Amino acid sequence: MSGPWVVGVDIGGTNLVVGLVPVEGGEPCGLRSQSTQSERGPDATVKEIGRMVADAIEDVLSKEGGASDQVLGVGIGCPGSIDRPNGMVRTTPNLGWVDYPVSTQIANLLQLPTVLDNDANCATYAEWWRGAGQGVEHLVGITVGTGVGGGVMLGGRILRGASGSAGEVGHTTIDLNGRRCSCGNYGCLEAYASGSSIALRAVEGLRAGSQSVLTELVDGNINQISAALIYEALQLGDEYAREIMLETAKFLGIGIANLINTLNPDVVVVVGGVVGAGDYLFGTIREEAQQRSFKSAFEACKIVPGQLPETAGVIGAAGIFISEMPGQS
Ligand SMILES: [Zn+2]
Repeated sequence: MSGPWVVGVDIGGTNLVVGLVPVEGGEPCGLRSQSTQSERGPDATVKEIGRMVADAIEDVLSKEGGASDQVLGVGIGCPGSIDRPNGMVRTTPNLGWVDYPVSTQIANLLQLPTVLDNDANCATYAEWWRGAGQGVEHLVGITVGTGVGGGVMLGGRILRGASGSAGEVGHTTIDLNGRRCSCGNYGCLEAYASGSSIALRAVEGLRAGSQSVLTELVDGNINQISAALIYEALQLGDEYAREIMLETAKFLGIGIANLINTLNPDVVVVVGGVVGAGDYLFGTIREEAQQRSFKSAFEACKIVPGQLPETAGVIGAAGIFISEMPGQS
């Protein structure tokens, strides 16, 4: 696919991913991924991103034969609280950055214009633009990873809210006296359905006497159980892992019912590692959501897994940049 292109940068707590996204459509090219090593601090991480992006641009231009002016800019996705107008990361627990001007730093390094957004907004936008929700007006994205994030698109635009934090689906309350959440509240969806919460619930059950192949998979060190390992146990036919994941699906279904009744979306797309737990989870998610939402709203809404597991962050960050270029609606 020839240019012009926009670079997408996905800064995750675990991995950095960069790639060039063709403005006119097509798969991202020149993709590069490596571990974030956030302990190096933001300046070293930005330098590394600069190197990865320069490599990717050189690679793509040499293959496609374009000139460097065919690379129009850089979209950046980052976890945590983002100050978009100033291109700042306010706080991001996954990276440990505080008030860091990531947008300006990357713009200076690469001599290209930049746009910064929250990683869940990027993933949601990507699924709307090039993934599971193409062509719909109203879409909600739920990202299930270390935490539970979300993004809302209404009328084809990202809902930002009064202070830019709209879409924090993971921190809506699903249990009045529920589990403590990383945000300080009790009973948030994230405290039940995030990767770390799934693992924690599994460990608690094992401590209380539940039997599972999980115990053998970690040689008895049950603190090492992760959500990924639970998905593995599920594939091995483990009944306890199945129970944990069906419970997770119910929690997600409750959260999704709240969204369906509030926003009446065409599509709710669930992205992240939990999707790897299997399609059958979506049966339980849909059942739970159906029981708790208005019939007409439920019937109008598809609840689907994301279609861009590795590249949603890169595609969405670039897509948001493109949507904000002069001349775009
Ligand atoms: Zn919370």
